[in-house]
Amino acid sequence: MSESTLRLQLVDTSRRLHSRGWVANHDGNLSARQSDGRFLATPTAFSKADVSAESLVVVDESGAVVGGRNRVFSEMGIHLALFKARPDVRAVVHAHPPHATALGACGRSLETFLPEAVVSLGPLVPLVPLSAPGPAAVAAIAPFAIEYDAVLVAGNGVFAWGDSIEQAYLRLELVEHLARIALLALPIGGVKPLPATMLPALLEARRKAGLGPEARGVKAAPVAAARPAAAPPSVHSDQLADIIRQELSAALRR
Ligand SMILES: [Zn+2]
Repeated sequence: MSESTLRLQLVDTSRRLHSRGWVANHDGNLSARQSDGRFLATPTAFSKADVSAESLVVVDESGAVVGGRNRVFSEMGIHLALFKARPDVRAVVHAHPPHATALGACGRSLETFLPEAVVSLGPLVPLVPLSAPGPAAVAAIAPFAIEYDAVLVAGNGVFAWGDSIEQAYLRLELVEHLARIALLALPIGGVKPLPATMLPALLEARRKAGLGPEARGVKAAPVAAARPAAAPPSVHSDQLADIIRQELSAALRR
């Protein structure tokens, strides 16, 4: 893909993030791997509505700006770590879509509760623990790069990555859609987890679609390990629904 096409795609996706209300102020950042091994990235301190093809910056693999008039965003280290861990990844998209960001800010991961979404995203959108910006944030997200294609980050929105800008964007969109449904379902008992018996066939369909770690020849953690008991509670845990029911009935009794 030519650099000019890639520039237009980054600009288009930046504006989509803004028009959907998934960024405010200067939130969010996007980058794409070029065929020469360098990276195109959105400039820092720009509204995503105002990003233009001319405002983009070119960054080398060390993070140094080698093209463009603007500065690169401070989270470029996270993008570079994802690109380094995943040679198949050609784009990273980060935004603060409100529903998914709310889950992360509450310290919750998102178990995938729709069968189709397991094929697209796998059984879990994990929660990256809260960290300070900078090297600590890179270290926090790096362990998730191989197995996952999208994560919630405590206190910092969603990162999604893929083999194109469109794929990374669509993954972020799906995470936000699932988070919104999970939150809509909370007052009526919460979404139900998929039965474990359904997962092997869905994960096989995922592999056959060329998605997920196994399709890349990476041995995936067993499903049980992907949903460790020690993981932060998922938003649709029955426990949470019980707590809400108790709170509601207590409030009604008052
Ligand atoms: Zn952010």
